[in-house]
Order: sequence, then C-alpha cells, then structure tokens
Amino acid sequence: MTDPIQRQIDPDDEAALLDSIDRWIERDVRPVVMYHDHNDIWPAELVAQMAEMGLFGATIGQEYGGLGLPATTYAKIITRISSYWMALTGIVNSHLIMAAAVERFGTEAQKTKWLSQFASGAIRGGLALTEPDAGTDLQGIRTTAVRDGDDYVINGTKTWISNGIQGSCFALLVKTDPKAEPRYKGMSFFLAPKGDGFSVGKKFDKLGYKAIDSAELVFDNYRIPAENLIGEVEGQGFFQATGGLELGRINVAARGVGLAEGALRLSTEYAQIRKTMGKPIAQHQAIQLKLGEMVTRTEAARLLVAQAAQAYDRGERCDMEAGMAKFFASEAALSNAEEGMRIFGGYSYSKEYEIERFYRDAPLMCIGEGTNEMQRMIIAKQWLKRNPA
Ligand SMILES: Cc1cc2nc3c(=O)[nH]c(=O)nc-3n(C[C@H](O)[C@H](O)[C@H](O)COP(=O)(O)OP(=O)(O)OC[C@H]3O[C@@H](n4cnc5c(N)ncnc54)[C@H](O)[C@@H]3O)c2cc1C
Repeated sequence: MTDPIQRQIDPDDEAALLDSIDRWIERDVRPVVMYHDHNDIWPAELVAQMAEMGLFGATIGQEYGGLGLPATTYAKIITRISSYWMALTGIVNSHLIMAAAVERFGTEAQKTKWLSQFASGAIRGGLALTEPDAGTDLQGIRTTAVRDGDDYVINGTKTWISNGIQGSCFALLVKTDPKAEPRYKGMSFFLAPKGDGFSVGKKFDKLGYKAIDSAELVFDNYRIPAENLIGEVEGQGFFQATGGLELGRINVAARGVGLAEGALRLSTEYAQIRKTMGKPIAQHQAIQLKLGEMVTRTEAARLLVAQAAQAYDRGERCDMEAGMAKFFASEAALSNAEEGMRIFGGYSYSKEYEIERFYRDAPLMCIGEGTNEMQRMIIAKQWLKRNPA
C-alpha cells in the first residue's frame, strides 16, 4: 500500500493560518450557527468562504492546487471549528478523504484530472461506503460494478452518505467480484460523479449533525468510464477505502477534541456566572470536580490526536494511534457534553443555550469512521502484534 503523504509546515505559517481561521469563526461562523442548526439549513455562504480559504484543498498537495497541509495542522483547524460548530467540518472532512484516496492510490492522469477541482471546491463530495445492510461489516456490501467494454455499470444503494445531496462526486466502494474469497479481494473503489442512473434517495432527519446533508444514494444501471476506477486496478478497493480511514479517524478525533473543548468553554463561562447559595456554582466542589475532569479529558484527547497526526505526517503506519485518538477523543466529547448539560441544569434543556447542540452532536463521533467498539478491537490487535509473547 502507498504510504501516507508526508508534509511539513513552517510554525509561523501555521500560526498565521490558525489566526485567520479564528478570525473567520468569530466574524462569520459564530453568529449563524444556531440559525443553521435549529433550522437544518445548509450553510451556503460559509461553504463559499471555506472554498475561498482553500479548505477544500487543505490536505491536497500544492502541486494540485491544494494547501498541502500536514495532518497535524489540519487537525488543529478542525478542532478550532468544531469547538464552535462540529457539523461544519463534515462538509470538508469526507471530501478530503475522497481526495486523499485519489492522491495516494490514483494514477497520474486521475490526479491531474480531479485533484485541482477538488482543491478549489469546484467539485465537492464525500465517501460512499455504507449500505443499508453493511456498515461495520464493509466487506458485506452488495453494490456491484460490472465491466462492459470501456465502462462499468453500477447497481446498488449507499446510505447515510454525508454531503449526499450537496456533493457532486463520491468515492464509491463496490464489488467487482462478488464471489471472491476472502471477500475484500473482490472490492474496488471508483470516483462517481452524479449523472444518469445516479440519484439521491431519502434525506435523513437526524438528532444532531444538522445542516449537513446525510442521504441515501441510489445507483440504477449507472454507467461510468473504466478510467474512474481509482488506480485503474480492480480488487484494491477495500485497502484504498480503509487506508484513507487513518486520516478519517484523525479527523473525527480532532472533531471530538473540538466538541470536548467547546462544551468545557461553555460550562466554564456559565459556572462562573450562575449563582446558587450566594456564590457562583464554580465555587461548589461538585462543579469543580466536573470541570477538573473535563479539562483533563480535553487535553489528553488533544495530545493523542497530535501523536496520531505526527505519526501520519512521518508516513508511519498509525492505525493504533489514530484508533486510540478517535476512541478517546470521541468519548471525551460525549462525556464533556453530558457534564455540560448537568452544569447548565434546567437551562441545558433550552434551545436558547448552545450546550444542547454539543449533547446532540457528540454521539456521532463514537459511531462514524469505525465505531468505538471496533476501535478498541483494532487498538488491541495492533498492541498484541507489537508486543508478541
Ligand atoms: C450522521 C452520519 C453520517 C455518516 N456519514 C457517512 C458517510 O459519509 N459515508 C459512509 O460511508 N458512511 C457514513 N455513515 C455511516 C457510518 O459509517 C456507519 O453508521 C457506521 O460505520 C456503523 O455502521 P452501522 O450503522 O451499519 O452499524 P452496525 O455495523 O450495524 O453496528 C451496530 C453495532 O454493532 C457493533 N458491531 C458491529 N460489528 C461488530 C463486531 N464485529 N464486533 C463488535 N461489535 C460490532 C457496532 O460497534 C455497533 O455498536 C454515517 C453515519 C451517520 C449516523
């Protein structure tokens, strides 16, 4: 398998970039989060601004028009945005995993054709892996691609696909040999732009992660040229899709840190304003115990994400590090959101306060990019491999 792409950034350049992200969040994002979240409205203006800032090419190489950022810097950007509005990062994240699959495993012709359009945001999309009967068990997918001359004909249904409505191109995992054993050998990965035979099914109405579209994608005799097969070799799809998940897990972990940090920030502010028994609740030991745990979890999660991202940037295999970061940071997000609800008391239940959004958004981090049940098993397997008896 191709190694992850190694990248570095000058510390001053990173600081300037993060500063511009902070200013954008303060000026343009914070004022509109509640409106978009409560009304489930796709944030067209923010998406245009993200494209202008180059975020749709954040991890794409500069030779293809991207910013060429290392995973460490990208994770910091994602954490900052997520500490105010996690869902917004979903519009960029799976798009960049699609791009990473092309950059790591695509042919030169595929990189030249697609990457600059992905980087500018002219073509945006995501990752289409999950099916109604196959999420964790990816090798059980049923969507098929059958070769027909210079084309493939694709039939099947994908579900829960982020950016499914607003995106126009998806990295699509299919079976080119449904009878292959082991099953992963029959899997291939395509770049699938919307067109005849490719339609959007239902849009999901969700608990949280509002404003970003999650939809079903239906392929009915959808025909694409063979040149859209990533790497132009059949049978590599499972490795190409799961290879990208290392970066995906670092992404989700960075979002988890952001959620944990945001819930902590809101709780810290509120605990110093809200008074009971004649003093701010932050002065009560019961609340201090919560804040002490929340800040520790947040910082531990941040360090695990940095460790995983640094390993990725060095081009090392980092499924164990990315798994630990994803598992711990997403659980930290969930715990901090719940503790935040308790700190806000009855007001946590009002949509006038932001903490309830964190409580609705956090559980997704424990499910996406491999559930936390699977993460623990991946971590243990790697751990045992690295520590033979
Ligand atoms: C908002 C949202 C956005 C999403 N975006 C995308 C996207 O853009 N692209 C995409 O392809 N998918 C996407 N997904 C799908 C997501 O990746 C899957 O939901 C996830 O992989 C889990 O699969 P599942 O829902 O089928 O659960 P299942 O696989 O049915 O798992 C159910 C439970 O069983 C456990 N379990 C399953 N197998 C095992 C095992 N072998 N050992 C132990 N425990 C096990 C799981 O951990 C889980 O607790 C999204 C989902 C959501 C909710």
